[in-house]
Amino acid sequence: MKINRNLCDVCGTCVAVCPVDAIIVDEFKVTIDNEKCINCGNCVIVCPIKAISEEK
Ligand code: SF4
Ligand code: SF4
Repeated sequence: MKINRNLCDVCGTCVAVCPVDAIIVDEFKVTIDNEKCINCGNCVIVCPIKAISEEK
């Protein structure tokens, strides 16, 4: 999964829905640990501004 940092406003919504805690949020940015990510798609669905997309 890939986050478009130009769009993301660090709302934190995606962090709460990740079943494997692969999304890390700090004050300034959100990071996805693709080693942990199981590609469930939850974060893509909940992001209100569609800042997360599947990495090709
Ligand atoms: S696709 Fe699923 S497992 Fe991967 S970061 Fe998003 S919510 Fe977490
Ligand atoms: S839900 Fe979308 S806008 Fe909110 S922190 Fe996650 S990636 Fe950023």
